[in-house]
Amino acid sequence: MDIKNITKEHSAHLIEVFSAIQGEGLNVGTRQIFIRFALCDLRCHFCDSAHTWKIPAICKIEHTPGLRDFQNYSNPVTLEKLLVWIHQQNAPFIHDSISLTGGEPLIHAPFLIQFLPQVRELTELPIYLETAGHRPEQLTQLIPYLNLVGMDMKLPSVSGENYWQAHKEFLQLCYESKLEVFVKIIVSENTELIDLQTAGEIVGSINPYIPVFLQPVTPLDTATGSINQNMMLPPSPEQILTWQVLMKEFVKQVRVIPQTHKMLNQL
Ligand code: SF4
Repeated sequence: MDIKNITKEHSAHLIEVFSAIQGEGLNVGTRQIFIRFALCDLRCHFCDSAHTWKIPAICKIEHTPGLRDFQNYSNPVTLEKLLVWIHQQNAPFIHDSISLTGGEPLIHAPFLIQFLPQVRELTELPIYLETAGHRPEQLTQLIPYLNLVGMDMKLPSVSGENYWQAHKEFLQLCYESKLEVFVKIIVSENTELIDLQTAGEIVGSINPYIPVFLQPVTPLDTATGSINQNMMLPPSPEQILTWQVLMKEFVKQVRVIPQTHKMLNQL
């Protein structure tokens, strides 16, 4: 599939728009309007959003913030329509920010360049980008419109993906642009020390004060909510305690936080 030919300036392929409590990273516990974009060019083993890999014929738009009273609309959606839906979601005193998530939102950079200045003006909410952090070229175009970036650094032993050089360029770009950024690293019982060391060296070489979140993989079957023994398992307490100390050789702030939205049974 040629992604370049399906990303447009004035329309985007979405999965859903909804209001929820952020369960990961620096914004954990805050309320966000989530815009989940379709498509991802990676195939992480632990992916809990594999339904985003293809473009669905319809996207789901929540009518009342947090109530999951979704209505279906055809893809792609126009920029104007999305602005109207965000305006409806943005009831007073509810939201702290807007989360661009996926899939990989940066695939939709041509659309976001048009959309972000308008949605910022409309809502006055900060914009948070959740990304795999491997597309520095697209990030460059969006920097003026972003407030916070959560970069998901992929460890080859956990995700099956290897993007060290792209991660380095991406994080360097965030830092040099003075864009607030944190790094999230999914860890499992199979995580290899050499991968954590490489990740720590990359972050520490750019700035040791960039916050790093070690996030134990969630072994839940998203369809049933139960533990599926065939899925990747989280690290033991001994592993995670050891890894936190190891990472602190390179970076100053290393927090261990599992996905809290799944503890809340928040869909
Ligand atoms: S980058 Fe995110 S959406 Fe894409 S495969 Fe990996 S976990 Fe899934």
